[in-house]
Amino acid sequence: MNRVYNFSAGPSMLPLEVLEKAQKEFVCYGCSGMSVMEMSHRSKDFEEILYHAENTLRELMNIPQNYKILFLQGGGSTQFAMIPMNLMNKNHKADYVKTGQWATKAAQEAQRYGKVNIVASSEDTTFDRIPELDPSLFDKEADYFYITLNNTIYGTRYTTLPQTGEVPLVGDMSSSILSEEIDITKFGLLYAGAQKNLGPAGVTVVIIREDLIGNAMDFTPTMLRYDIHAKNHSLYNTPPTYGIYFMGLVFDWVKQQGGVKELQKINEQKSGILYDFLDHSQLFRGTVVKKDRSLMNIPFVLPTKELDAKFIAQAQSQGLVNLKGHRTVGGMRASIYNAMPIEGVKALVALMEQFEKENK
Ligand SMILES: *Cc1c(COP(=O)(O)O)cnc(C)c1O
Repeated sequence: MNRVYNFSAGPSMLPLEVLEKAQKEFVCYGCSGMSVMEMSHRSKDFEEILYHAENTLRELMNIPQNYKILFLQGGGSTQFAMIPMNLMNKNHKADYVKTGQWATKAAQEAQRYGKVNIVASSEDTTFDRIPELDPSLFDKEADYFYITLNNTIYGTRYTTLPQTGEVPLVGDMSSSILSEEIDITKFGLLYAGAQKNLGPAGVTVVIIREDLIGNAMDFTPTMLRYDIHAKNHSLYNTPPTYGIYFMGLVFDWVKQQGGVKELQKINEQKSGILYDFLDHSQLFRGTVVKKDRSLMNIPFVLPTKELDAKFIAQAQSQGLVNLKGHRTVGGMRASIYNAMPIEGVKALVALMEQFEKENK
């Protein structure tokens, strides 16, 4: 069977070159005589794999030496609890911006550990935008300020970061890491689950400024403490070894593409093709305000649910799969992460054009 264009929001497409490289090394890695999956996490070979992944990511994202890179488990969602347990430790309060389901879940979880102040929300317009942020509402005594940089479900993203002064900015970048350039020094902590832009599910990358490490609440389970993982170089216990290896291959691929700067250009081009079509279509309509549109997740709708279903079925039959929108939004959503080739986006737009002609 041929590979399809997979528009899934996550787990999602991975670069074919990377899949093929992993396949070549699947049974026997280098001179080790074994698969990466069979290796001790304390072996020299695995140590090299781990350091290679870390160093390549540091280079790709320009991460300064006073930030630690951690490879953890528990998905993005475990960070919803880990962040407050480890950072909400001075004044026991934090600011959150509510831009969708992931931000809401993160805020709800944090509420179990301290006081959460929702500084702004776009819930009243079904999260179709990043809300205006009024800095006079920011709490100067908050232990951190939390944002979701790219909102996977609703298709919005921050194009400017909030100015939080001395309050550390914490960012969920699960669905946009390595898709556009970002200034790490603006953040105290950035994290991303792997399964959208980095590799297979099961590993979460946390990038944390050193001065924020080491103040976890007393009851914090050992496995949920950043200091433990930082001290042990992500080897406190068995880390998700295969996922780390695979991510390393994806980092190499990003480098081969010319780095994040080049990928951003391609992502702007890819999303531009789709947004341009949506802006001119008489039938399809994008659901997000222009200024906050995501480069990665693009939701759109047709005038009726029947047409939505018809379009999704037609796309599926042509090898354009997983275009159904999130259950809370309906319609369609095209997730076009780094690994989605521009040909996939062009094929989608060609089908939309044809569908429009036939269903006007
Ligand atoms: C997918 C996603 C999550 C949740 O990730 P899990 O690994 O499933 O826990 C959190 N935040 C964002 C922005 C996401 O896209």
